[in-house]
Amino acid sequence: MATAEPASAHPRPQPRSVIVIGAGLVGLGCAWRLGLRGHQVQLIDAGTSPGQLNGSQAALGVLMARVFHRNSGRGWRLRQQSLDLWGRWRQELAAHGLPIAWRQGLLLIAATGADQERQRLLSSDPRRQSLGLELWDPARLESLSPELPRGALSGLYSRDDGQIDPGQALEAIGQDMARLGISTLHGSAAALKPSGAGWRVLLQGGGHAEADWVVLAAGLGQAELLASLGQQLAMEPVLGQALELERHEAEPAPASASGWNWPGVIHWQGTNLIPRPDLPGGARFWLGATLEPGQRADESSLETMRNLNGTAPAWLQQARERRRWQGLRPRPIARPAPVLEEIASGVLLASGHYRNGVLLTPATATWVVERIEAGKTDS
Ligand SMILES: Cc1cc2nc3c(=O)[nH]c(=O)nc-3n(C[C@H](O)[C@H](O)[C@H](O)COP(=O)(O)OP(=O)(O)OC[C@H]3O[C@@H](n4cnc5c(N)ncnc54)[C@H](O)[C@@H]3O)c2cc1C
Repeated sequence: MATAEPASAHPRPQPRSVIVIGAGLVGLGCAWRLGLRGHQVQLIDAGTSPGQLNGSQAALGVLMARVFHRNSGRGWRLRQQSLDLWGRWRQELAAHGLPIAWRQGLLLIAATGADQERQRLLSSDPRRQSLGLELWDPARLESLSPELPRGALSGLYSRDDGQIDPGQALEAIGQDMARLGISTLHGSAAALKPSGAGWRVLLQGGGHAEADWVVLAAGLGQAELLASLGQQLAMEPVLGQALELERHEAEPAPASASGWNWPGVIHWQGTNLIPRPDLPGGARFWLGATLEPGQRADESSLETMRNLNGTAPAWLQQARERRRWQGLRPRPIARPAPVLEEIASGVLLASGHYRNGVLLTPATATWVVERIEAGKTDS
């Protein structure tokens, strides 16, 4: 399914000045694509306290588009567009010597009869016929090494979904932005005020920046900015914990050179297991992430995930913990994620991506570029 990136098909636009607030993947993606289109971009980010990660730095980078439960509507469209654009973005960045690791393939495991039925419907969906989905039976699942969690009834394999390395994506886009002359101003944006035909962004502790347009991509950090415009957006944090684990040395000899013959990411009852053959040690993988409403990490949620709710095979139980981390996801309350809206003439809100901000960054950036190039709506 090829999706055109509509803005790039248009002739060079009249350059605009744009302030992007927030340098997570969403803000970086918007700033980068605007810069490539010749707009004058200033990126502002408040930074995180030592030991803390923003949502994008904490993310696992799983891209799930083809197996989305709906097959039409905005959510479906944004996901398909984003997955296709990630392929193009990776190629463009690689051409500048900035490759991003991509682990192709995703296998959803059914652990209940209801999961199985859902998989059957998805695999026989006429709209997905050309999208590389296959239903795998238990015999095929049993041939996988290392063995899957106990109780796998069937699998839905998706050829095109997979995992991108979020750290490398942040790094690669940041470096290409530097090539375009876009740097990040470190500061916390506190308020927006109209200024002439554009906007003034006031920074905490003094100082300001001005531009024709402002893009709010500050994740959970924009309540104050919205309040300065007399607006609010109900959003709650949902904490996620993740682990990097390593298979124990006493395990049997690996079935393949890397020790894994999995067809990509394994998605088991909401948890992702992601082989990382590129990490030193060879047998490392990521496991995550928990869903914990609020901001406080809970040890028992991590433990439940660690043993896959009692279904973890021995090799997983014995795996050694190398690293653990956590981050917050912005979840819009009573409205679908993400929130893409022109909230005042010349102010775009690109936020509330909840569990799919990495996946949805390219479609978000495309929307931002198109909105700016289409001109302001009067308000
Ligand atoms: C553990 C975990 C696993 C995840 N796994 C996946 C996954 O597999 N696939 C996927 O697609 N998504 C995943 N996500 C979700 C994804 O990480 C988020 O949806 C995405 O990172 C949101 O990006 P963002 O740029 O909007 O926000 P963030 O990355 O949080 O960036 C917001 C930035 O705004 C800055 N900021 C905030 N307030 C201000 C201010 N007032 N002034 C200036 N700067 C400000 C912050 O410093 C921060 O850098 C995961 C999230 C977590 C926590």
